[in-house]
Amino acid sequence: MTEQLEAMPTDWQRALAIVAHPDDLEYGTAAAIAGWTDERREVSYLLVTRGEAGIDTMDPDKAGPLREKEQRASAAVVGVTSVEFLSHPDGAIEYGPALRKDLAAAIRRHRPELVLTINHHDTWGGNAWNTPDHRAVGRAVLDAAADAGNRWIFPELAAGGLAPWDGVRWVAVAGSPRPTHAVAVSGGVERAIRSLLEHRTYIEALTEEEPESYCRTFIEQMTSHDSARFGDRPCIGFELFPR
Ligand SMILES: [Zn+2]
Repeated sequence: MTEQLEAMPTDWQRALAIVAHPDDLEYGTAAAIAGWTDERREVSYLLVTRGEAGIDTMDPDKAGPLREKEQRASAAVVGVTSVEFLSHPDGAIEYGPALRKDLAAAIRRHRPELVLTINHHDTWGGNAWNTPDHRAVGRAVLDAAADAGNRWIFPELAAGGLAPWDGVRWVAVAGSPRPTHAVAVSGGVERAIRSLLEHRTYIEALTEEEPESYCRTFIEQMTSHDSARFGDRPCIGFELFPR
């Protein structure tokens, strides 16, 4: 019998989702977020880039603001109104202290109990290579959850009024090839599809497929991927790192 995934923790009120690009949360995770905002939990988004290098046919100067707008619209579909952007370069995010500091600052501002990100591993499973931005951001998120609680790491943050926050209890990584936990998402699937569809310009440039059918197929695949390990329910799997 396939090993079952554990249920995601429910004893939290605030989550901060930190990812590299507009659309990273919409390829599945938004289905879980829709359920959480239904339960009146607060979820905020922090995008490390504006995704300006994501549309082959569009100059980054135009693509950045457009993708920012699409991201805000897609967040609103699943009940998220707090959407912030850092200005790291799309495609060339560097893992290191500068990124960790930016993320630690955001964690101190938002004071989340749960931090979400996407896959930091080298691959998506098998030989499907991950992108450098996802690896850099995912790893920096896992590190920054601890950095945020230590006043002597990046002391200029505390000096600038951002008190340490050692309250992150879990970092949950979506899209991991090694999920440990899951959350049932039956109520969030339709909104997740609409949320992904808000990235319309990006999707139209990405695929010849009709956008709504592309989004539906993808989200249904994502939410059924781990179902056999979670009571045959549509779900989103996470690799959970407790702290
Ligand atoms: Zn991405």
